[in-house]
Amino acid sequence: MTHRCDALLVGAGIMGATLARLLRQLDPSLEVMVLERLPGVAAESSAALNNAGTGHAANCELNYTPQAADGSVPIAKALAINGAFELSLQFWSALVEQGVLQDPAAFIRGVPHLSLVWGEQNVAFLRRRWEALNATPQFAGMQWSGDSAQLREWMPLVMEGRSLDQPLAATRVARGTDVNFGALTAALLQGVDMRLQHEVVGLERGGRGWLVEARTPSGAAQVFEAPFVFLGAGGGALPLLQRSGIPEARQYGAFPVSGQWLVCRNPEVIAGHNAKVYGKAAVGAPPMSVPHLDTRWIEGQRALLFGPYAGFSTRFLKQGSLWDLGRSVKPFNLLPSLQVGSQNFDLVRYLVGQVVQSQEQRLESLRQFLPQARGDDWELAVAGQRVQIIKQIDGRGTLQMGTEVVSSADGSLAALLGASPGASTAVKTMVDVLQRCWPERFNSSAWQARLRALIPSWGEDLAADPERLCGLRKRADAALQLKGS
Ligand SMILES: Cc1cc2nc3c(=O)[nH]c(=O)nc-3n(C[C@H](O)[C@H](O)[C@H](O)COP(=O)(O)OP(=O)(O)OC[C@H]3O[C@@H](n4cnc5c(N)ncnc54)[C@H](O)[C@@H]3O)c2cc1C
Repeated sequence: MTHRCDALLVGAGIMGATLARLLRQLDPSLEVMVLERLPGVAAESSAALNNAGTGHAANCELNYTPQAADGSVPIAKALAINGAFELSLQFWSALVEQGVLQDPAAFIRGVPHLSLVWGEQNVAFLRRRWEALNATPQFAGMQWSGDSAQLREWMPLVMEGRSLDQPLAATRVARGTDVNFGALTAALLQGVDMRLQHEVVGLERGGRGWLVEARTPSGAAQVFEAPFVFLGAGGGALPLLQRSGIPEARQYGAFPVSGQWLVCRNPEVIAGHNAKVYGKAAVGAPPMSVPHLDTRWIEGQRALLFGPYAGFSTRFLKQGSLWDLGRSVKPFNLLPSLQVGSQNFDLVRYLVGQVVQSQEQRLESLRQFLPQARGDDWELAVAGQRVQIIKQIDGRGTLQMGTEVVSSADGSLAALLGASPGASTAVKTMVDVLQRCWPERFNSSAWQARLRALIPSWGEDLAADPERLCGLRKRADAALQLKGS
């Protein structure tokens, strides 16, 4: 028997959940179905402990504002990410106001975002970054300090026992957030038609658009037919995209990077820190490996994590196969993949260094943030798997650090590849998918009216209207009960 629906979404992570919820809100008559290979939702990258839970608004992530060769600090990427996160906040608050999401504290909390650097050059860089960002309406509330008394007030444990023989400075945005993307995914999927333990193993054009074959653990095959398919399979999206046979897939390869955290088990230490403190990445480190000390809120409990430490595994999903990387290499992406390896020695050296480091070396990195950290208080845990994009640009393989939506020319199939900033910008990315793949309905007056009720500033430049930005932020903070300190 073939199951039919209007939109078939593969993967019950934050991306699939966001797209499913958007479709349900924009047109409740649509039949939307989600297929998920695991027995539960949000068990891969979107699970709370598999990611850092930072509401990426570019408040503290220094990799979004790398210093240019002339010493200036370009902020365009930070502004774009901040704008995308505002759209997420608007969407989530509209769903809370409409009663679709019941308990905002279950998935989002106010936690200040800080960037911390030491050494003269880094302090000068942070100062330039702060000056550039602080001059914009989006970051007008960002604070700067190089004063140790002020820094002690912002992050007492980070300052405790710290030698002050080199300059130290930080910026702070009180209105930062910690997001439990796992809890949010589950809440967004409430009431959505889902088939768990259905692993998509094949897809081809046919019927009303696409015929998708899924396998259950017993080996039984099920066929689904839909005019639109979204591959929100996280690390599993590239192999499925390749299986679809669309020509657009031939530009891509992938490179997996795994991660680990140190998780604090001492309640006193956990209670003594209330911030996400991001530092500067080591030379060669991929942007997602910027070290940070994070206050988290998981299942109503405060937690403290440090990391991520990068690692290497050939799996594309945490619960994937060791053959994932090998199987993704095809004649058309072999050369670009080799080119990426040969062009990124710093990255390779960094990953090797991370993989072979001892627990004592990990603790040394932690002590750069928490000088008094005791080994007994911290346990190692495995984070989610990130699959970075290798894209052919002008015939050469290039490693891409962001996310990218790839779609077929007729808009009947879309896939999300890549990792960061990921979950925080899921709302903008999924609305972009609809704009690209469902243009007629998207531009209809009915969808536009509903979209604006969900995301009031969609298509607007909030930087040009600081009063409106402030009003929308107040509304989101009230609906989501955000109280940044
Ligand atoms: C260490 C780490 C830290 C991160 N920190 C942050 C952060 O602080 N802030 C942030 O915004 N983002 C962060 N991210 C990125 C974020 O976690 C991801 O962007 C996001 O979770 C991706 O969501 P997704 O729905 O695309 O994928 P996933 O959550 O991985 O979901 C994909 C789903 O598809 C399923 N699936 C796969 N293949 C198949 C198949 N063949 N058939 C059926 N189902 C399938 C999987 O089982 C899974 O449930 C981090 C990621 C990592 C790894």
